[in-house]
Amino acid sequence: MFVYADNAATTRMNKAAMEAMGPYLDGFYGNPSSQHAAGRDAAKALAQARAKMAKNLGCEPREILFTSGGSEADNLAVFSAAALGEKSGKKHIVSTAFEHPAILRSLDRLRAKGFSVTLLPVPENGVISGQQVEEAIRPDTCLVSVMYANHEIGTIQPISEIGRICREKGVLFHTDAVQAAGHLPICVKDQQIGMLSLSAHKFHGPKGVGALYVQKGIQLEPMITGGGQERGLRAGTENVPGVVSMAAAFDFACAHREENMKKMTSLRDKTIDGLKNIPYSILNGDPVCRLPGNVNVCFEGVEAEALLFLLDQAGICASSGSACMAGSLEPSHVLLAIGRTPDQARSALRLSFGEENTEEQVDFIIETTAKAVSSLRGVKSSVPRL
Ligand SMILES: *Cc1c(COP(=O)(O)O)cnc(C)c1O
Repeated sequence: MFVYADNAATTRMNKAAMEAMGPYLDGFYGNPSSQHAAGRDAAKALAQARAKMAKNLGCEPREILFTSGGSEADNLAVFSAAALGEKSGKKHIVSTAFEHPAILRSLDRLRAKGFSVTLLPVPENGVISGQQVEEAIRPDTCLVSVMYANHEIGTIQPISEIGRICREKGVLFHTDAVQAAGHLPICVKDQQIGMLSLSAHKFHGPKGVGALYVQKGIQLEPMITGGGQERGLRAGTENVPGVVSMAAAFDFACAHREENMKKMTSLRDKTIDGLKNIPYSILNGDPVCRLPGNVNVCFEGVEAEALLFLLDQAGICASSGSACMAGSLEPSHVLLAIGRTPDQARSALRLSFGEENTEEQVDFIIETTAKAVSSLRGVKSSVPRL
């Protein structure tokens, strides 16, 4: 049996995304900046895609900027907020210890440039509180960046509350919503979000395309200079097929969100119940306040790499955490942040479901994992430490 349960790393493109892309790979190949019929067709497609994204995010089309993905959107948000802050002498940033590396490595760069960064510690359940954010904000804070849902443990952050706090304090609020977009409700106006990052390949769109919502009035600091595309804020000929396809995928995901979430929540809970019966297992992250498709469990005394190898041999694609960190021997910074020991962190299995997964696959995953865990413990004859 082949089971793909690594949808937090990337997803399969769906039919809506593929069908939308087709014509722009073939017949409609114009450059949106060109002043002729082919160019106008491409420009029109781009405008329609922008309007679609805006409708589903609750903002205006001109507040959407297309990027090469989530990482670029995150970088653009962080460096733009820093540039704005610097102009008014504000060089403090609040974020969290379990952000995606696209945020954390950007903050490292700013630290080296003299910014001070407060990374909020993460409670054991993986949910930051509004109060933590409120207490960390200083008069010189130029940015609060807190992810909507965590990429490894799936926990959902109180984005609306953080938005309200930032609005009251007059601080710019960015959220990395790459894991949330298409899966959790988003309305940037209601949630008082200043900037929001998303990436198409996490909601069944193509890889290499994403978007940053930027509330009007916020001045971006372009990272790629050149032509005047994206109102001069992001140079380079637009990825028309990618953008059109992303908009179709996002539209589809938002339209089917509630039914899909119900289905995935039930797969998630069934998996958690099954894996809980394996001795010395620990669920990472809040059992309820988490993404519908996310399961993350430590099996004490087991090396995740060996477990993943056995699962892979059985046809199951899973992960030990973030794909960007795969292959590194460093324990996950997310699991360390919620208080797991390095050994525990190296024993984590992340399963992330999509709409295509089935109950039969979940049964197979539970059975295969239980066998693999006990055989690995037997081989190593290691007694899990409690
Ligand atoms: C995948 C991911 C990213 C990076 O997105 P890319 O499009 O792959 O660059 C950023 N943040 C989070 C939370 C992610 O899960």
